[in-house]
Amino acid sequence: MNRWMKISIVTPFFNEEESLNIFFKKVENALSDFRYEIICVDDGSSDKTLEGLLEHKDRNQSIKVVELSRNFGKEAALTAGLKAATGDAVVIIDADLQDPPELISEMVEKWQEGFDVVLAKRKTRDADSFMKRLSAEWFYRIFNRFADEPILENVGDFRLLDRKVLDVINALPEVNRFMKGLLSWPGFRTAVVEYARPDRAAGTTKWNYRKLLKLSADGIIAFSTVPLRLATIVGSITSIVAIIYAIFVVGKTIILGVDVPGYASLLVVTLTLSGIILLCLGVIGSYLGRIYDEVKGRPIYIVREFHESDKASKESSEDS
Ligand code: UDP
Ligand code: MG
Repeated sequence: MNRWMKISIVTPFFNEEESLNIFFKKVENALSDFRYEIICVDDGSSDKTLEGLLEHKDRNQSIKVVELSRNFGKEAALTAGLKAATGDAVVIIDADLQDPPELISEMVEKWQEGFDVVLAKRKTRDADSFMKRLSAEWFYRIFNRFADEPILENVGDFRLLDRKVLDVINALPEVNRFMKGLLSWPGFRTAVVEYARPDRAAGTTKWNYRKLLKLSADGIIAFSTVPLRLATIVGSITSIVAIIYAIFVVGKTIILGVDVPGYASLLVVTLTLSGIILLCLGVIGSYLGRIYDEVKGRPIYIVREFHESDKASKESSEDS
């Protein structure tokens, strides 16, 4: 590998004080052969994560800390980290060591072979609960049925991206950052390495079902307009059925005369149609909401401070 090539590691941290020391130990170990920088994004942690990160930064000048002004969520934190990365390739990795750093050298090797994207694919999801596995499976199924560009199952954010790909992703303007989708969207020459996903090294997961559901909905809405078309299709079908039924009712009235009973059928039709109308309005509303978010054009994250050692900042200004 070219001696001057630099690898950027990008990691979001949200209340990860227990994972810090072991994280840096393992990652620095895995990177010892390379020129590297570790971009740590503190996503508004409320524990001692930031203090810990700054201590590590003082110890190792390759560590840089992007401090966000509050918790913006993993997707925004990753966006901030990717913007700050200056390397020739960037590796996205979680702070909890569920993405084994030992895999990095294998990913870099693939990159050296000429791949622009190297994905890490989990062999098993044994570490996850049954419900999480099931919901993940359904998410991929629905997403890939709807989206124009499918995403690979059991591939998280853990991956290596070449500078070319990173520049494309950094230039994407959308506020709604569904990273899994955004990261796969550019395409490029892609390789896959496999690994077994271990349990969290420390701490607890920062996701709950409400957040996961929101993420899935964001993902599908951001990458597909099929639900909108689905609303049209459902609407058309019910209209056709309604017309046929109307003809039937009118015909019956003409032939057999007015018959007063029919309250039940009336109620059923009214309720069904109102239900479908509300559903379609909801679907349209979801898109409208996202459009509103995009139009406002608020920043995706706010950096309170970018911490790097003086030596490191001098070096990077010489680089450019
Ligand atoms: N994370 C973050 N902001 C959040 C939630 C999570 O930066 O609001 C980070 C977290 O510190 C970790 C990564 O995202 O580095 C993955 O989070 P977690 O391990 O909780 O997710 P899981 O592995 O369960 O999908
Ligand atoms: Mg995790």
